Amino acid sequence: LLSWDGRLTDDARLVTALARTAAGRGARILTRVRALELTAAGARVRDELTGEEGEIRARSVVNAAGVWAGGLVDGVRIRPSRGTHLVLRPESLGPLTAGLHIPVPGETSRFVLVLPQDDGRVYVGLTDEPVDGDIPDVTEPPETDIGFLLDVLCSVLHVPVRRDDVVGAFAGLRPLLDTTPEHADAPPRTADISRRHAVLTSPDGVVTVVGGKLTTYRRMAEDAVDAAVRLRGLAAGPSRTASLPLVGAAAPHVLAGLPAP
Ligand SMILES: Cc1cc2nc3c(=O)[nH]c(=O)nc-3n(C[C@H](O)[C@H](O)[C@H](O)COP(=O)(O)OP(=O)(O)OC[C@H]3O[C@@H](n4cnc5c(N)ncnc54)[C@H](O)[C@@H]3O)c2cc1C
Repeated sequence: LLSWDGRLTDDARLVTALARTAAGRGARILTRVRALELTAAGARVRDELTGEEGEIRARSVVNAAGVWAGGLVDGVRIRPSRGTHLVLRPESLGPLTAGLHIPVPGETSRFVLVLPQDDGRVYVGLTDEPVDGDIPDVTEPPETDIGFLLDVLCSVLHVPVRRDDVVGAFAGLRPLLDTTPEHADAPPRTADISRRHAVLTSPDGVVTVVGGKLTTYRRMAEDAVDAAVRLRGLAAGPSRTASLPLVGAAAPHVLAGLPAP
C-alpha cells in the first residue's frame, strides 16, 4: 500500500511549542524537575540538576508521566510496549514517491511503515513488543527488532536492504493501559491493546491520564483537566483548546491558502 501520511510532526518541537504556549498563558514550566510523590494537593519534587528537594502546592494534580505514570499513584497498571524505528539513507531504497505500508507476514492487521522524511532520510518502523520489569529512562532498540523490521521490509523489495544499510535506530515505550484482570490466564498481545486514552482518579484524588496517541493530545488534555476541575470543584470556563493556536503556528488564512482578511 502506498501512503502519504506519518511525517508531519517533530515531536520534540511540538512539546516545546506547547510548553511555550502554556507559559504565554501563565503556566510555570519547570524542566529537569522530578515528581517524587504526588497527592491531590501537591507534589514533593527534586531538581535533578542541583539535587535540591521541595514541595509544590496545587489546587489539583494531574499525573501525565506516560509510561512511568504507574510509579506515582496506586492502582494504575501500565503495559509498556516497545516501538523501534530504523533510519536508512534514501539510496538504500531508491526513489520513493510515497510511504509504504507493508503487511507483516502471517498477521491480519499489522504493518511495517516506510516513511520518507523531508530531509531525505527514511524511517522504517515499527515494532510492538511488550517490555517487562523496570522501565528504563532511555529505551535501546535490540537487534531482534532491527532484524524483524529488515525481514518485513525485504519481503516486498526487489533489492535487499542489509544490516549495514541501517544508519541509526531508535525506540520508545508506548504507555498502554493494562486492563486485563489480575488473574487472567494470558494477557493480550500489546499490539491488540486499545490505544484509547483513559482518565483515572486515585482514591487520594490525583487525576492520571494515560494511553492515547500524540494525535489525540488535545482531547486527552481536555478530558484530564475537565476531570480535575470537577473533582476539586474548581471555577473554570469551557475549554478553549479546540481553537487555540500554538506559538509559531501559521495564521488560519495562510494554512487555507487565502489572502489576508
Ligand atoms: C515508538 C512510538 C511511536 C509512536 N507513534 C505514534 C504516532 O505515529 N502517532 C501518534 O499519535 N502517537 C504515537 N505514539 C504514541 C505517543 O507517542 C504517546 O501516546 C504519547 O507520547 C504519550 O504522551 P504522554 O504525554 O502521555 O507521555 P510521554 O510522552 O511519555 O510524556 C511523559 C513525560 O513525563 C515525564 N516524567 C515521567 N516521570 C516523571 C516524574 N516522576 N516527574 C516528572 N516528569 C516525569 C517524562 O520524562 C516524559 O517527558 C508512539 C509512541 C511510541 C513509543
